[in-house]
Amino acid sequence: MNGKIKPFQSIHFKIAIVFVLLLLVTIEIIGAYFVKQLEQQNITNFENLVTIQPYITTQLSTELADEDTETANRNIKNIVADVDNSSISEVLVVDNKGIVRGTSNANDQASIGLRTPRSDIKSVIYSNHKKTEITSTSDGSFYTSIAPLTNQSTDANQVVGAIYVRASMDTVYRNINQVTVIFLTASLVAGLLGMVIAIFIARAITQPIDEMKKQAIRIADGDYSGQVRVYGHDELGQLALAVNNLSIRVEEAQEVSDAERRRLDSVLSHMTDGVIATDRRGNVTIINEAAQTFLSTNVDETIGESILNVLGIENEYSLRDLLENKRDMVIEPSKKATGDAANKTIQPLPLNERKLILKVDFSLIQRETGFISGIVCVLHDVTEQEKNERERREFVSNVSHELRTPLTSVRSYIEALTDGAWKDEKLAPQFLTVTQEETDRMIRMINELLALSRMDQGTAKMDLEYVNLNEFFGYILDRFDMMLKTGKPDSKQKHYSIKRELTQKDLWVEIDTDKMMQVIDNIMNNAIKYSPDGGVITARLIEAHDNVVVSISDQGLGIPRKDISKVFDRFYRVDKARSRKQGGTGLGLAISKEVVEAHHGRIWVDSAEGRGSTFYISLPYQPYEDGDEWDA
Ligand code: ADP
Repeated sequence: MNGKIKPFQSIHFKIAIVFVLLLLVTIEIIGAYFVKQLEQQNITNFENLVTIQPYITTQLSTELADEDTETANRNIKNIVADVDNSSISEVLVVDNKGIVRGTSNANDQASIGLRTPRSDIKSVIYSNHKKTEITSTSDGSFYTSIAPLTNQSTDANQVVGAIYVRASMDTVYRNINQVTVIFLTASLVAGLLGMVIAIFIARAITQPIDEMKKQAIRIADGDYSGQVRVYGHDELGQLALAVNNLSIRVEEAQEVSDAERRRLDSVLSHMTDGVIATDRRGNVTIINEAAQTFLSTNVDETIGESILNVLGIENEYSLRDLLENKRDMVIEPSKKATGDAANKTIQPLPLNERKLILKVDFSLIQRETGFISGIVCVLHDVTEQEKNERERREFVSNVSHELRTPLTSVRSYIEALTDGAWKDEKLAPQFLTVTQEETDRMIRMINELLALSRMDQGTAKMDLEYVNLNEFFGYILDRFDMMLKTGKPDSKQKHYSIKRELTQKDLWVEIDTDKMMQVIDNIMNNAIKYSPDGGVITARLIEAHDNVVVSISDQGLGIPRKDISKVFDRFYRVDKARSRKQGGTGLGLAISKEVVEAHHGRIWVDSAEGRGSTFYISLPYQPYEDGDEWDA
């Protein structure tokens, strides 16, 4: 619509040309008629001018009738000479015998008395009919008239001769030509003037149209600032008003839709859910920030791309699937959801790894006719839910498994006893001891599970009190020292020594003593359990910036690097068989972690395989200033 109009295609040009053509045609028709009329009139006037006066013809007739030729010729000569008419170039008088009786031509006086050679004169004499003629020769145009002369006095019809008059019509035609030239000049001037006027008129008509066209183009380009000038109250004026009105309306509509779009944009960009919209071919047209973050991509990479590629599901689904039946799915986008990396995304990933799991809901954008114009896809982060769900499933399977193993062994011992082993005095007590140990372990496990479950539900009551951690830790370590001393020499009790590196300061912290004792016991027991005989266990207590840190180091097996992050998981054991043999449940550290976290503390481990491990517990601690001492 912005195309340039060629000059001769414009209305401006057309109006001007029509106007000028009309003007020229009119002038030409009038002119032609006028010139023709003028010519006719001039010729008539000329004829009248050169017509010999009747009294002269009467005189000539009288003279021709006279018998006295000599006298008559003389008289005729005088009469002819008297014809006072500058237009007449020659007058010739011939009698009815065809003899020249007089001529105005001075050079032709000799022909008087001779028979005229001109047959046209003779034929006029015979026919008694006047003959006029206009001839054009190289010398110019001449008017000739041959009129019969009749003797009026005797017989009106008796031809006595004829008079031949020849007159040059040059002046007549010169006049006509002059008028024609004037007329042509005038029509040329009128034409030019008309053209100028036509251009102005056409301009007056087309200028408002042109302005409206420009305004329409500006509106289309989104510039509503201009207004078309209203030149008058005619149709064009009304059209201009309508265009101005239209521009305001379009601007209003545009503002409304802009505001709507901004609102939608802000809703989309502040949504925690990802939103992707596509056209009907499934190519992305909108992607909000959340979706970009989820899919670790950006607008440039996604706009115009197929949604299947963007979601990394091009190998599993086709666009038809999405359009026809697939309404939701769960995906795990890889860092870059492109190429073969996307294939791996559907595979379940190990827990703990913070991999995004997205629930994708599709809905179609449909017109009333049912025509599908696009797809809207909402991405919802279900990582936490999905992780919890997996953990729950894994936990149930772990619990079942952990209980089945001791139960199976208990059952096989009981079967053996039932089958007669009870009678065997040596075997029976041994079998019973094993069943008792296994049952104890199961009870311990179930108690630990219950403790964990209470922690999970938040129903575990925390019995908090201010305790001097230095004293508290020392007390626990004393107990372990004691255990070593009181251990029976034949028992499987391991030998170890405890090295204490405790700060001298009193460190008052608020803890649930029973639970915290359980935690330290567990770590100490592990240190003993997973250390060779005679190892040194180093217990430290230090005060760090608004924290106290308890650490217990052993010189045992250590924990492989890959397992370090998992030892606090429920049922996780580096060496399942070994742990179980030593009565471990795999829940000790999990409970410890829950307890420490319930105290707003942190528990972690530092270990090198084969060289020992150090478990750390840090608890929040607010050192008492002097002024904070209680008065009591
Ligand atoms: P368990 O009842 O099996 O000891 P825990 O939750 O207490 O369960 O410990 C989990 C796992 O962590 C243990 O099975 C063991 O493999 C590893 N572990 C814990 N403490 C130590 C340690 N001091 N040295 C080496 N490995 C350890």
